[in-house]
Amino acid sequence: MNSILEHVSLKPYNTFGIDAHARYLAEFSTPDELAALLSWGSRSAPKAEGRQGTDVWPVLVLGGGSNILFTRDVDGLVLRNRIEGIDLIDEDEDYVYVQVGAGESWHGFVEHCLARDWAGVENLSLIPGSVGAAPMQNIGAYGVEIKDVFQELQAWSYADGRIYTFSLNDCAFGYRESVFKRQYRGEFVILTVTFRLPKKPVLHTEYGAIREELERMGVREPGIRDVSKAVIAIRRGRLPDPAEIGNAGSFFKNPTVPDEQFEALQAEFPEIVGYRNTGTDTTKIAAGWMIEQCGLKGYRHGDAGVHARQALVLVNYGGATGREIYELSEEIVVSVRQKFGVDLEREVNVF
Ligand SMILES: Cc1cc2nc3c(=O)[nH]c(=O)nc-3n(C[C@H](O)[C@H](O)[C@H](O)COP(=O)(O)OP(=O)(O)OC[C@H]3O[C@@H](n4cnc5c(N)ncnc54)[C@H](O)[C@@H]3O)c2cc1C
Repeated sequence: MNSILEHVSLKPYNTFGIDAHARYLAEFSTPDELAALLSWGSRSAPKAEGRQGTDVWPVLVLGGGSNILFTRDVDGLVLRNRIEGIDLIDEDEDYVYVQVGAGESWHGFVEHCLARDWAGVENLSLIPGSVGAAPMQNIGAYGVEIKDVFQELQAWSYADGRIYTFSLNDCAFGYRESVFKRQYRGEFVILTVTFRLPKKPVLHTEYGAIREELERMGVREPGIRDVSKAVIAIRRGRLPDPAEIGNAGSFFKNPTVPDEQFEALQAEFPEIVGYRNTGTDTTKIAAGWMIEQCGLKGYRHGDAGVHARQALVLVNYGGATGREIYELSEEIVVSVRQKFGVDLEREVNVF
């Protein structure tokens, strides 16, 4: 069986750089290795007092640790997913079907696609983390989400140790949402994800500053590699690099409110930034704008702070604990609620 380390700092394994500890840490590269580790976890866990049988160690599967905030130690088993492989498994006139191991890096997969002229993921360039965590919150950027290129995934069930296939419908993807983040939270380990990628690209350059960036680059007739380069340039200019300052990207989701509520807010705050959700009577409000209006952009409490250029991103200046970052996020929630009457929801997974 793979080696199991004891009492390990998780600081290198989460992009917030929080120094939480795992009681046990191990890696798996195949479903069999995962099963062996879980079986070890249930054999070696202490017996709960006054109860029959054996408890299992709590298990946390980790990819790149770029969407998690540790507010405490993990008194259990942290398993790093290292399942590899990017395989072209099928092809028709319009699409290629590519199955990817959950432990592959997301951006590595994007680069693999770009090199082969497989379209569809270029707008998702440079999102940190693993392929296996991408369906968890239906990662998205610049007008594209993985649901747009998703075919199916395979996931291992903790309940019965069997592998299940989830179709697009089964995953119930929404804005930074899926069944894995809601009703099946903690019940499955995603092993592989299969993508359906168009051979003829349909470019999405209308979002963010992609067009302006392409113009700046002097590109008149862009292809997928140009769009990827533009997205990378924009992201590098706007988002703090976790290698330099701890963060997990957007900490909050942009809240959705009924159009009526948005119009009332607009009457009071004419500058408010919102985007109509087409086909619904709701509007998505830019959470970063509201945080900024609360005077919190660049706010710092100890080593926990709100990024100076991007108010949606909370940062660890070095020695912040997860608890301190969480408390700062709570302050932000309260301020936004008081000023706008809107509840912010955390996008980051809080452990
Ligand atoms: C600088 C920066 C920019 C970002 N930009 C974006 C962006 O533009 N769009 C966006 O959507 N996100 C963005 N993110 C968030 C993050 O990159 C994504 O959510 C990413 O998919 C997380 O992958 P991960 O492997 O690091 O997940 P982790 O942080 O390791 O895990 C996240 C959650 O998923 C669970 N999990 C991980 N792997 C599996 C698995 N195989 N099976 C079951 N559960 C699993 C974990 O237990 C945890 O609850 C950004 C983050 C950073 C730091």
